[in-house]
Amino acid sequence: MNDCVFCRIVAGQIPATRVCEDAHTLAFMDIGQVNPGHVLVAVKAHAENLYELSDEQAAALARISVRVARAIRAAFAPEGLSVYQANGRAAGQTVFHYHVHLLPRHTDDGMELTWPVKNPPRDQLEACAAKIRSALD
Ligand code: AMP
Ligand code: ZN
Repeated sequence: MNDCVFCRIVAGQIPATRVCEDAHTLAFMDIGQVNPGHVLVAVKAHAENLYELSDEQAAALARISVRVARAIRAAFAPEGLSVYQANGRAAGQTVFHYHVHLLPRHTDDGMELTWPVKNPPRDQLEACAAKIRSALD
């Protein structure tokens, strides 16, 4: 049996509070609810992380995420909305089935992500960009 918790939700084998779905994706309520209206959008077919997504899955993910984000805004009128997505333990991923968090935000809501900027010189930006460009397929 597949012991991936999100595969089991997609298959209806364990309970989840569903929001909407399409052929490639399922949106459901995050059980932790960092703030009310916190939704996860997951791919239906198991993919561990962003690197494993097909173009079709990626496109469907973007479409449903924008659609649900607008609905969260209409329903909860949050001051802001964070879109959060982790790939790998070092990035904070805890469920290894690709998903995106749509997280309504409010001033001083306790959600923190530190952002330790380095502000490197331009030549370092150019060198990093060149490395990425040469790896594009
Ligand atoms: P992360 O992998 O860090 O992006 O976070 C995984 C998220 O999945 C957490 O916010 C959990 O609250 C959520 N989660 C874990 N199990 C369930 C479940 N059975 N139903 C809904 N959300 C879940
Ligand atoms: Zn899975």
